[in-house]
Amino acid sequence: MAQPQLVHNFEAGSMADKDLLGGKGANLAEMTRLGIPVPPGFTITTQACRAYLDSGSVPPALFEEVETHLAALEERMGRRLGDGEDPLLVSVRSGAKFSMPGMMETVLNIGLNDVSVEGLAAQTGNARFAWDSYRRLVQMYGKTVLDLEGHRFEDALDEAKAAKGVSVDLGLDADDLRALVARFKAIVEEDSGAPFPQDPRAQLHGAIVAVFDSWNSPRAILYRRRENIPTDLGTAVNVQAMAFGNRGADSGSGVAFTRDPSTGAVGVYGDYLADAQGEDVVAGIRNTLSLADLEGLDKKSFDELLGIMARLEAHYRDVCDIEFTIERGKLWMLQTRVGKRTAEAAFRIAVDLIDEGVITEEEALQRVTGDQLAQLMFPHFDPESTRSLIAKGMSASPGAAVGVAVFDSDAAVRLAEAGTPVILVRRETNPDDLHGMVAAAGVLTSRGGKTSHAAVVARGMGRTCVCGAESLEIDLKARQFTTADGTIVREGDTLSIDGATGEVFSGEVAVRPSLVVRYSEGTVSVEEGGPLVAAVDRLMRVADRLRRMKVRANADTGEDAARARRFGAEGIGLCRTEHMFLGPRREIVERLILAETDDEKQAVFDELLPLQRADFVEIFDAMDGLPVTVRLLDPPLHEFLPDFTDLSVKVAVAEATGQDHTEESRLLAAVHRLHESNPMLGLRGVRLGLSLPGLFEMQARAILEAAAIVNERGGHARPEIMVPLVGSIAELRAIRVEIDDAAHEARVKHSVHMEHLVGTMIELPRAALTAGRIAEAADFFSFGTNDLTQMTWGFSRDDVESSFFSRYLEDGILTSSPFENIDRDGVGRLVSIGTEEGRRTKPELKVGVCGEHGGDPASVHFFEERGLDYVSCSPFRVPVARLEAGRAMV
Ligand code: ADP
Ligand code: MG
Ligand code: MG
Repeated sequence: MAQPQLVHNFEAGSMADKDLLGGKGANLAEMTRLGIPVPPGFTITTQACRAYLDSGSVPPALFEEVETHLAALEERMGRRLGDGEDPLLVSVRSGAKFSMPGMMETVLNIGLNDVSVEGLAAQTGNARFAWDSYRRLVQMYGKTVLDLEGHRFEDALDEAKAAKGVSVDLGLDADDLRALVARFKAIVEEDSGAPFPQDPRAQLHGAIVAVFDSWNSPRAILYRRRENIPTDLGTAVNVQAMAFGNRGADSGSGVAFTRDPSTGAVGVYGDYLADAQGEDVVAGIRNTLSLADLEGLDKKSFDELLGIMARLEAHYRDVCDIEFTIERGKLWMLQTRVGKRTAEAAFRIAVDLIDEGVITEEEALQRVTGDQLAQLMFPHFDPESTRSLIAKGMSASPGAAVGVAVFDSDAAVRLAEAGTPVILVRRETNPDDLHGMVAAAGVLTSRGGKTSHAAVVARGMGRTCVCGAESLEIDLKARQFTTADGTIVREGDTLSIDGATGEVFSGEVAVRPSLVVRYSEGTVSVEEGGPLVAAVDRLMRVADRLRRMKVRANADTGEDAARARRFGAEGIGLCRTEHMFLGPRREIVERLILAETDDEKQAVFDELLPLQRADFVEIFDAMDGLPVTVRLLDPPLHEFLPDFTDLSVKVAVAEATGQDHTEESRLLAAVHRLHESNPMLGLRGVRLGLSLPGLFEMQARAILEAAAIVNERGGHARPEIMVPLVGSIAELRAIRVEIDDAAHEARVKHSVHMEHLVGTMIELPRAALTAGRIAEAADFFSFGTNDLTQMTWGFSRDDVESSFFSRYLEDGILTSSPFENIDRDGVGRLVSIGTEEGRRTKPELKVGVCGEHGGDPASVHFFEERGLDYVSCSPFRVPVARLEAGRAMV
């Protein structure tokens, strides 16, 4: 194994060395290289940290190397660490490759002890400053290195202030602080069993090891898991000469951004606190000044700071955030990095930087994300407004909705029609709740995960939805729910739900409007949303120019299709037909199920045909000129029948009261007959089509006749008929014959030109594995990644997210839900195999994906990598998918 590189001077690195030096160290090195005033120092590498974490002991040569670098630092500063007369003091700062704000440790003022504190006081002629620095050291060292309870020190500080009758630290003088140090040292000794270390080397080594250890602190582990940061990188440690912001009124510390990180507005932005050190600025111990006020206090430092910020922004070609300290009129830069920003600021800054000639359009596209666009496209709660949180569920469909609670769909419709916005509250929803969901401003459920019925349907409609708020006890009969703390919310009470965070609030929270993205004639335009409009519009155009993949929408009705088109859909990737069998048509389906002879069945098909045909005419009209993939009936038939228990009760009651119940009894028998223990693995999809001859044929006929009708009128319908749940080519072949026959007849009947494709969903692992064969009978594939994920993992998508997933995510067994982000290694591999083998058989095979993953940014990038032709997602995600499909090309 190569000898690890242990220590680097700031002079020896650059911003390219983040792996080795961590973000903070690499950027300190970069600023040093640029000649910006940075207190000198050196970085202990992440390799040293990893060696320590792997072996459990400090690499043998590390402290020797630290000694060499320290000697050079002492030489340069003309002071020795912890010297009794004129001490050099240093900070020991953590800094990993990816910034983990507040997750790890930093210790300031290392080198102070009972002797050197007097030396510092004498040298600087400022005893208050010296003792203030010492008390900070003991406090930070106790807390972070010795792992003592921080509040012990904070309490002692508060007591000292109370005893003196002052409210801020500055009210304590040198003597008070000297007494406080004595108290702090006593706390250290009481709580750790050993006195505060007086040896500066022991302090330094202890702090270095504490920073190493902080990599594995529980909160750091949790943070990494949440942010998907690899667990084995380790942190670097920066040892740096102190610059003192706590030397009096002509000193201070601040943080700043080169542009406003919340709006993106041009112009520096920041906070400054005089006579303060380190984290005082952000800790809120005193009211800070704005950066602009610094100009009045210290014009020279202010001007220099602005000059440096301009240089940094030009150098990093992006917004930077910085930390600085002024020591008696001398400015020092302590940190910089590319600044975090809000969604709004991200778009604005990206476009401003293009206009300023700093970055290209392609780079600008990399500075924004689909998630940020999604945030802007949905209304959100005003962050300033007051709110009272009563529950938290899953963020199922974004947006901010306010309305009165109602507990059934009919009531939701009634109230909504009377002009009252409502939140539909259900344990879970089912297809019968559709009208209620349409009418509601938002949907709240106590059960089910992000792929539950409520979540999927709400996303499809762009309705705000929070699902799986398990702490809510919903009592549908009493029309109320009880929260975890016993608060009762009744029908008619106002609720606010945040679909982006999963939060549920009682009462009304103020809503901020959203951006509206519209396409017409293939060009994007963004309406509403204030100054952001131009920025989003511009970057969407860039994405559209670069994009290779097409983006379609999942839409089931003419209305959905029209909306999808306005959002920029380039076709329909999934038109589900099951809802066409609900509502008043449910009764027809019941008759189909009860039909005993072929003639009876055919009669029902004949009745359904014109209804279905009318459905499709509407959709083809809305999608004129664009491809429409229609999936033949997929769910098991029993889903269209009444509930078994309800029906049994009915029959029993009828029997007891001597009423006629022949019809109900027949239905009950059918429900019984169709019952399956694993319906998702049962009689559905192509299996249903083959078991109930005529059903798929009728659907195919309806689709193709509708297409012919549209074409006859001069339109251009492009039907693509999709067979669900195919596992073998034999299934597809058998159905394809029926479809092609129907097409032939439709052509003859209408004598009009009409193209049609027949393809299949790839949603069973076997279909992916035998894709080379299946492609022989298919014109296209569409990966149904919801089912494919369910079938590959063996996870029930209806249950899993509200059962053991949270556990899996907490324990790090899963880093994200495979139903949200495509599982590249498993499900993704099947997508790759299916695509490659399918195209090997048929190079012109069209391959797309429908399913929730089609609108997920990370998944879109994966599909681009695999060369898919299109993704399909819910209409509201179309702009997001377009943006990401463009970003995936850069
Ligand atoms: P974090 O990563 O949590 O921001 P830092 O290492 O940046 O931690 O340090 C915490 C605080 O201490 C910051 O405000 C920083 O500016 C300050 N600080 C760190 N090193 C020095 C130093 N050498 N001189 C003065 N202040 C310092
Ligand atoms: Mg910092
Ligand atoms: Mg499916």
